[in-house]
Amino acid sequence: MFCSKCGKENSDENLNCSQCSNRLKPEEPQVKAQVEPAFGNLIPYKNSYGLTAYYLAIFSVIPCLGLILGIPAFFFGLKGFAVYKQNPEVKGKVHSLVGILLGGLCGLVNLIAFIVAIINMAIKS
Ligand SMILES: [Zn+2]
Repeated sequence: MFCSKCGKENSDENLNCSQCSNRLKPEEPQVKAQVEPAFGNLIPYKNSYGLTAYYLAIFSVIPCLGLILGIPAFFFGLKGFAVYKQNPEVKGKVHSLVGILLGGLCGLVNLIAFIVAIINMAIKS
């Protein structure tokens, strides 16, 4: 890296400039503060729509709950994906897609099952 004070090129391992002794790297505590938790990249805390969609979709796999949870999961997923597209830093792309696909699928399957059950009842009565 180059020294910000005198411009001399230094090895990346150097803490101080070899020419003017200017400090090249920020203090250790500042570096640690910037490090995210290990799972910070996996769970999109900043994209609550995507995260909500993901958990709704997971639970929409449970029979009967699919209709109640799958459809909101689908819409939360769409919203989460829109938030991600506007600002990719919030992450949650995969979580939103899981919400859209899994939630949409479970919602649809349960909706069809629900309609079929109603039609069956209507035919029998
Ligand atoms: Zn220097």
